Amino acid sequence: MEKIKCLIIGSGPAGYTAAIYAARANLMPVLYEGVLPGGQLTTTTDIENFPGYPTGISGTQMMEDLRNQALRFGTDIRFGVVTKVELKQNHNLVVVDGEKEMEAMVIIISTGASAKYLGLPDETKYAGMGVSACATCDGFFYRKKTVAVVGGGDTACEDALYLSGLCKKVHLLVRKDYLRASKVMQDRVMRRENIEVMFKHEVIGLYGENGVEGAMLLKNRGAEEEELSLPIDGLFLAIGHNPNSKLFSEYLHTDKEGYIKTEGATPITNVPGVFAAGDVADPRYRQAITAAASGCKAAMEAERYLVENDAN
Ligand code: NDP
Repeated sequence: MEKIKCLIIGSGPAGYTAAIYAARANLMPVLYEGVLPGGQLTTTTDIENFPGYPTGISGTQMMEDLRNQALRFGTDIRFGVVTKVELKQNHNLVVVDGEKEMEAMVIIISTGASAKYLGLPDETKYAGMGVSACATCDGFFYRKKTVAVVGGGDTACEDALYLSGLCKKVHLLVRKDYLRASKVMQDRVMRRENIEVMFKHEVIGLYGENGVEGAMLLKNRGAEEEELSLPIDGLFLAIGHNPNSKLFSEYLHTDKEGYIKTEGATPITNVPGVFAAGDVADPRYRQAITAAASGCKAAMEAERYLVENDAN
């Protein structure tokens, strides 16, 4: 069985940043990229809010740059998916791709979160052509246009408010007849002139020649339901995220949504030597920059842990 010091699971900004720091600290990290090498950012268009890129950068390019930076310091980046873990202090057992067994002294979990989608075939058809699950990433491309946000929680309200500052008009499509969001967010949404809340409306399809030009909606599901068409330039999904933490839930404390719980603002989990960084442990911010920062913290904590446990 291969025995290593430091294993990093996941290849978004948290994982690669952890790898850069861990490699420079001589922890000889091995990083498994997972099912979506580069993570969620590879599914967005341009990233314009990451400091240091005055003219923006594509998500794919940024992840490629981070990957190369991690490689430069000797990170062993491998294509593969961790399929099983047994978290035991200093002797964490891991199975990769269902067959390869490894043992790692420390583990940094940076498996991210996946935005929930409605499950419509049209979401795939128009991916990157008018469908987005990240208002702060993609909102800028819809300046002075008309968009719709799906959802009735705090994220949907926050996204609608954010987009209302950029777009001509924002339709907030809520499937129930009430918003689940906090009162303060509801009030803000209701007061904003260019947001129209459409209760009891669900998206059932999208249309458009070279990108989204409108959505087909179902109003009042059940009795008296009717279909209507809503012309829009973009559809933003804000119906929640699923943290990719299932693999670890037997060992690590998670909140009710499945986000890994850490000690305060640190990446320290309840299992000594196991750290969680990025969106998998962050229900609140979920930004590339915050993920990168927590990856840095995780590598620093991993190094400290190895020194304190005489394992370095
Ligand atoms: P939530 O789970 O709170 O809300 C999801 C929303 O999406 C609900 O309105 C839900 O509808 C709707 N929804 C789910 N599935 C579908 C579907 N298939 N079709 C249509 N609508 C659907 O997720 P959030 O991401 O909004 O929030 C997650 C957590 O993060 C919450 O605790 C929230 O308070 C917190 N948060 C806090 C913020 C802040 O404090 N500023 C900002 C953002 C998030 P329904 O109500 O019918 O189930």
